Amino acid sequence: VWVLALALLAGCGARGFLHLDRRTFDGQVRVWLGGGGNSTVVMEGSQALVVDPKMLGFARRLRKEVEEDLGRSVRRLVLTHSHYDHAGGAGEFRSVGAVLVHPRARARLAGDSAGGCRPGGGGMPEPGLTLAPPRAPLFESPGQGRVRDLCALPYVEVAGEVTLWLGGEEVRVWHPGVGHTDGDLVAYLPSRRLLVAGDLAMNGWLPRVDPQAGGNPLAFWRTLDAVLELEFDSVVPGHGDIGGREIIERSRDYLRALEGDVRQARADGLTEDQAASRVGLRAELKGTPPLPTESHSGNVRLVYRALVDAETDAPP
Ligand SMILES: [Zn+2]
Repeated sequence: VWVLALALLAGCGARGFLHLDRRTFDGQVRVWLGGGGNSTVVMEGSQALVVDPKMLGFARRLRKEVEEDLGRSVRRLVLTHSHYDHAGGAGEFRSVGAVLVHPRARARLAGDSAGGCRPGGGGMPEPGLTLAPPRAPLFESPGQGRVRDLCALPYVEVAGEVTLWLGGEEVRVWHPGVGHTDGDLVAYLPSRRLLVAGDLAMNGWLPRVDPQAGGNPLAFWRTLDAVLELEFDSVVPGHGDIGGREIIERSRDYLRALEGDVRQARADGLTEDQAASRVGLRAELKGTPPLPTESHSGNVRLVYRALVDAETDAPP
């Protein structure tokens, strides 16, 4: 339980994400806010695609409500990244035929399962497409009454971009670059001008970077810049309510300004500790309501370290 609590705190912040709240985006798209990461359900005929299945009992409730209340069989999952509050409940979805995930996120999920999925499994793969198959056959028959192991899911690795067609519905699943982790995927529904952003977007929290999962604050805002080139009006963030493009613009602006401020602090000779206490939120960002400050100094430290690392890595 403590490991889980710590993972939640490290992953995505502790506030407000357990309360489950349902939203109807339109006739085909529903959103289950909270209970871990937000879940987006795209319905097509008798089937459904779910972006982020939540965790534990919340995943079970989501599955029951989609399968029993809405009468849809969940055939596809998209995992926006490997954090447990988003992906941990994937095994609940026994009728799923394909689980789309970035190769590095899949490796982490495999590593988090007992013993890993391969002998010596759980290590970081080389960047790019990894073709190592999961331990179980790709299309096993759905188990009865037992949650499938995260190793046994029929993963489809998405290192770049794939387009799914659900009936007439186009769903683009894309890795826009390193950000919250190094294995984030977004789902983009162009006909609805809807972006499902995972933890690349938080509504009501500062952007969070998980360096242990390859996240990088310097890459993050550049990745958000790339995301903003898509044409969308609505965003389902990883946590917090549905909103518009401003959720992503705000995060991009915050991280871009933060990089500039920490570069200046380093140029002024400040240590990491000094920067963490002195680099505040910029005045123009303070007025923006959903920008709480509790993890700002932590972000300053992450940017500071990322700049030191980038310097160390640079050729002489
Ligand atoms: Zn996360």
